[in-house]
Amino acid sequence: MKEQIILTGDRPTGRLHVGHYVGSLARRVELQDSGDYDKVYIMIADAQALTDNAEHPEKVRQNIMQVALDYLACGLDPEKSTIFVQSAVPELTELTFYYMDLVTVARAERNPTVKAEIKQRGFGASIPMGFFCYPISQAADITAFRATTVPAGEDQMPMLEQCREIVHKFNSIYGETLTEPHILLPANEACRRLPGIDGKAKMSKSLGNCIYLSEEPEDIKTKVMSMFTDPQHLRVEDPGRVEGNPVFLYLEAFCKPEHFTEFLPDYHGLEELEDHYRRGGLGDVKVKRFLERVLQAELAPIRARRKAWEQRPGDVYEILKQGSIQARETAAATLRDVRAAMQIDYFERGSF
Ligand code: ATP
Ligand code: MG
Repeated sequence: MKEQIILTGDRPTGRLHVGHYVGSLARRVELQDSGDYDKVYIMIADAQALTDNAEHPEKVRQNIMQVALDYLACGLDPEKSTIFVQSAVPELTELTFYYMDLVTVARAERNPTVKAEIKQRGFGASIPMGFFCYPISQAADITAFRATTVPAGEDQMPMLEQCREIVHKFNSIYGETLTEPHILLPANEACRRLPGIDGKAKMSKSLGNCIYLSEEPEDIKTKVMSMFTDPQHLRVEDPGRVEGNPVFLYLEAFCKPEHFTEFLPDYHGLEELEDHYRRGGLGDVKVKRFLERVLQAELAPIRARRKAWEQRPGDVYEILKQGSIQARETAAATLRDVRAAMQIDYFERGSF
């Protein structure tokens, strides 16, 4: 059977948040430990982060360590997963340049995630070219490691689609060389795109509407209590809306049956709680208190492991350095195949 290989990653634009956890991180750790994969590559996408942070290299640099600490805190294990830094693998940049020849400007413009992000960041007509092209560089990242599986949130679907198109086009022009990947979305729909605490469509580092994995208990409490709910649910006795209500979406993403036994034994499960809210007679504060306890229970062990790793910055540095050396070898092998397929390996062949 073909080797099963995972590649996924995050932009070092801030600490990781609970959206990352349910959308991708928790699954990665499960897959890493499942034994079903021959290789797992986890990339800290600093070059991609620079595409919309060119003037803030210090922000990107400082967050490399923060993201690595979040990874280790969640249970990514450097013995089982290769954790590396994107810019330490320059082969990815070369691949990107060749792939750019296979994508039209019109096609790049059609990417709905990029479109939404351009709007969100207020670029107007001043879109950095690197940002516009980042889905092409993601295709380079994925194919360089011959990844078959990319565990990610829903915002990544257009990226995977574009990557597969590049693979098809490359293989049809230059011969069967690249591996076609597929996205692995969270099974639980609420985890695919967790909204922000402000109710905005997506929790995102760049929007400042996050609950971070490293958040202190007091801050988790303040953030949950300030969360957006159903604006029509003014009095306890009013009927409330569960659909699109961030507090219930978070409960769908995070709560397990044992949380009810432990923190809210009056209810058998989420359905019963939701029914009560819809009928009226259930206040936001009670639901938020429950959510807060659920989040505290889930985040406490992550925070404790993070604090332990924070004491070992030298070890974290070594993990990233060794991971990057290993990753570079793999990407270089793919690049050799790509150059041979494109017949631009003149000096390996010994002729033009
Ligand atoms: P930025 O605002 O800098 O783009 P981000 O918060 O969107 O940061 P990324 O580093 O772009 O985070 O995303 C990393 C991974 O986390 C991707 O797989 C993405 O699908 C997933 N992800 C990010 N935000 C969410 C979310 N709110 N819900 C589910 N998955 C998410
Ligand atoms: Mg993003």
